[in-house]
Amino acid sequence: MPVSVQTFGTIAEANRALSAGRGAHYMGGGTTLMRAINEANPDVETLIRVTDPQLSQVRLEGSAVRIGAHVTMREIARSRELAFLAPVARVIGGPQVRSAATAAGNLFAEQPYGDFAGALLACGAQVELGDGRRTSVEDVLRSPPRSIVEAILVTPPADGLAFKKITRVKPKGVSLMSISAVVPRRGGRVDNPRIVFNGMADKPARSNGAERALAGHPLSAETIARAAAAAADGFTPRDDSHASGWYRREVAGVHLSRLLSELI
Ligand SMILES: Cc1cc2nc3c(=O)[nH]c(=O)nc-3n(C[C@H](O)[C@H](O)[C@H](O)COP(=O)(O)OP(=O)(O)OC[C@H]3O[C@@H](n4cnc5c(N)ncnc54)[C@H](O)[C@@H]3O)c2cc1C
Repeated sequence: MPVSVQTFGTIAEANRALSAGRGAHYMGGGTTLMRAINEANPDVETLIRVTDPQLSQVRLEGSAVRIGAHVTMREIARSRELAFLAPVARVIGGPQVRSAATAAGNLFAEQPYGDFAGALLACGAQVELGDGRRTSVEDVLRSPPRSIVEAILVTPPADGLAFKKITRVKPKGVSLMSISAVVPRRGGRVDNPRIVFNGMADKPARSNGAERALAGHPLSAETIARAAAAAADGFTPRDDSHASGWYRREVAGVHLSRLLSELI
């Protein structure tokens, strides 16, 4: 079936076109949507695009960095303002994928993709929607909005973002899982940690067990061991060609422990 492409100058026009038909999809870099078209997926009838150059901009907004929806992984990896996210962007696909894959597209990527979205979730990032609303990455992951995403707002974590991608094929293999951790410390104790796994659920998700084990304690070998033991609590990861769900549960704590040990 032929696929039509509709290009608009503004998000408002594109949002109207999107709501007109079930087969209409917004296209960012197209790294996953073009695959669906090549596989003749009948759900994709129309591709909606927006040419507004503001969607490709990175700029400071107060203490936050505003990442336009179309900013690519390649641009993020090279951005001074987004240096804390560069280690994440650098390991998404190979060079061709990184030069097209967008920040907003990663929020909707199907598992095992979503490494960048996981890092944004760990940083507590916000999402600006084209219909004027602002919401959290958590909400967008839980319930994809009807509107196009216009930008992502993220404040660089004062104590840094720790990230680890576990893959069988290096350097650009698909994630078996990835872990993003923001572990702030106040008065020598962990305060409000955010530990996110990608690859352990149908979307990137916080590990409540690990966060509870860390909060209020010094970041010591004992605390890390407790966090590692609780890392997979509440997760039922799926089996796929990269690993079984059982294996993912077994190794989640091991990799979290390695990541957190580097922060002591
Ligand atoms: C070979 C290969 C390797 C990959 N490796 C990785 C990897 O290591 N890690 C990883 O996380 N991902 C990986 N990906 C997946 C993908 O490239 C990324 O997730 C990318 O960020 C998706 O962005 P995109 O702009 O290409 O999305 P598209 O393919 O354009 O769109 C994906 C989905 O997002 C929606 N969407 C896109 N932009 C918007 C917007 N502004 N507002 C609302 N909805 C929107 C689309 O409608 C669609 O449903 C890989 C893909 C390929 C093909």
